Amino acid sequence: MNYKAKALTIAGTDCSGGAGVQADLKTFHTFEVYGMSVITAITAENTQQVKSIQDIDPQIISDQIDMVFEDIRPDALKIGMVSTEKTIKTIAKKLKEYKFDKIILDPVMVAKGGEFLLKKNNEKFLIEELIPISYLITPNIPEAEIISEMAIKNIEDMKNACIKIYEKGAKNVLLKGGHFKGEIATDILYDGFNFYEYSEKRINSKNTHGTGCTISAAITSLIAQNYTLKDALTIAKDFITKAIKYAPKNIGHGHGPLNHN
Ligand code: PLP
Repeated sequence: MNYKAKALTIAGTDCSGGAGVQADLKTFHTFEVYGMSVITAITAENTQQVKSIQDIDPQIISDQIDMVFEDIRPDALKIGMVSTEKTIKTIAKKLKEYKFDKIILDPVMVAKGGEFLLKKNNEKFLIEELIPISYLITPNIPEAEIISEMAIKNIEDMKNACIKIYEKGAKNVLLKGGHFKGEIATDILYDGFNFYEYSEKRINSKNTHGTGCTISAAITSLIAQNYTLKDALTIAKDFITKAIKYAPKNIGHGHGPLNHN
């Protein structure tokens, strides 16, 4: 295959293949983008639960980033699960060193089963270190509530939270409304000037494992190919809607994986 671009994910693994680095690499491949991965943590998890987590030594994280950047250098990258203060600070230092700005930040905090993927009380490091270097941050409602320090109950609240998150230094904010109940799932993009709404009919499905990872990987694939942010989000939203709609029905006993094709 002649790849259209190169993308990197800096994230945790999911041995069951539905979320984390595995979901990201599958998604990059679908978009015909060459995928690379810097592993921050190894999780033992499946479609039902996260059993345990091993954080990777920050020196090895730093070395992985060096190896990728010194040789191939991505066109865009995403950051997913970052687990600890040290991990966050290592990533921020390295990406500043390489003066890299096509960074999509998925502020992963808690898994569907309630397990902490980012250590408790470490959110402030993610906010202080990673938001200011991000081109786009993609929080869901619970993550946006923590970052903006406000409750989000409706579209108006979503817009106010976007402004608060933007003020923390991200160049663009995509607040995903999938956690709201209702017929329509609306995501809001704020670029510091205007709000743009992306709405799709909600699909009720229990196959939602790795949804956040997959949409941010899709956006990263498109930004790597120099799509405008607005076009990238339109395509990525359509992709994630179909990924949920056509998810395989026969894999795992819990929140099954998506269709990454
Ligand atoms: N496992 C890893 C390694 C992740 O990066 C993520 C990302 O958000 C998840 C699990 C969460 O998946 P879910 O929200 O489907 O539990």
